[in-house]
Amino acid sequence: MDSDQVPRGIDPSKAHPARRYNYWLGGKDNFAADRESAETVASGFPTVRLSAVENRKFMRRVVTYLAGEAGIGQFLDIGTGLPSAGNVHEVAQEIAPRSRIVYVDNDPIVLAHARALLTSAPAGATAYIDADLRRPEALLAHPELRKTLDLGEPVALMLIAIMHFIVDEDDPYGIFATLRDALPPGSHIVMSHATDDFLEPEELAEANEANKRSGVPFRLRSTEEFTRFFTGLELLPPGITSVVDWRPDVPEDQRAAIDDVSMLCAVARVP
Ligand code: SAH
Repeated sequence: MDSDQVPRGIDPSKAHPARRYNYWLGGKDNFAADRESAETVASGFPTVRLSAVENRKFMRRVVTYLAGEAGIGQFLDIGTGLPSAGNVHEVAQEIAPRSRIVYVDNDPIVLAHARALLTSAPAGATAYIDADLRRPEALLAHPELRKTLDLGEPVALMLIAIMHFIVDEDDPYGIFATLRDALPPGSHIVMSHATDDFLEPEELAEANEANKRSGVPFRLRSTEEFTRFFTGLELLPPGITSVVDWRPDVPEDQRAAIDDVSMLCAVARVP
């Protein structure tokens, strides 16, 4: 995107996660500042593009599972990103046309593109909310959310590649607990999260330094730190794994290396 086509309320001079992720996925909805920030991250973690692609593939498999086998009819997708191939409602409604989806993001560019997310199958529904994950109470009370989802029935809460933007000062575990407690039994929580598990201390320092220079606060977490989110929840098989290994649909020799991807995931059921 050129800076002269900028929609109102959008600052092209500052890197944003949604536009940067769009760049890694090969999209065109990004500005020079985003590309520069993306390249800075790639200088500290060269396989970041593969990581984005594998994360997106995981998302498709998990929504397919939830809408099909698990029979979940409602989705709350926080940190939606720019519309791209295989948005949650497209994948879910292909399987279950009555699926209802609420999308949430805090980036004005995602809001500007939200129309592409509101193309629900007639039997279901989609809504878009411009809100911040760091204020979970406000998000849960939002009238559009209440209109679209019935919180008395199981919901799939999707936190796909977003929690690593929640730094420790923002209380990630507290935010998670607030959302979890709002979900009825039988709900599912899906999370994917960038990890530092495979980095030597020196590499970790380099990655952290690159993230700092990229202008987007970012917090890699270890398997142990990731696991803490799921206390009191029932992890579904295969448990906590790389996104690459979560119910894969290709043989092992065709899968990406888990250290190149460095992204953890899990799906848990609310008891
Ligand atoms: N879930 C999508 C996109 C991930 S990119 C996927 O996995 O394919 C992360 C998204 O989270 C970006 O669109 C970014 O704008 C959004 N995001 C980051 N911090 C946020 C916050 N505090 N509140 C709401 N959205 C946030």
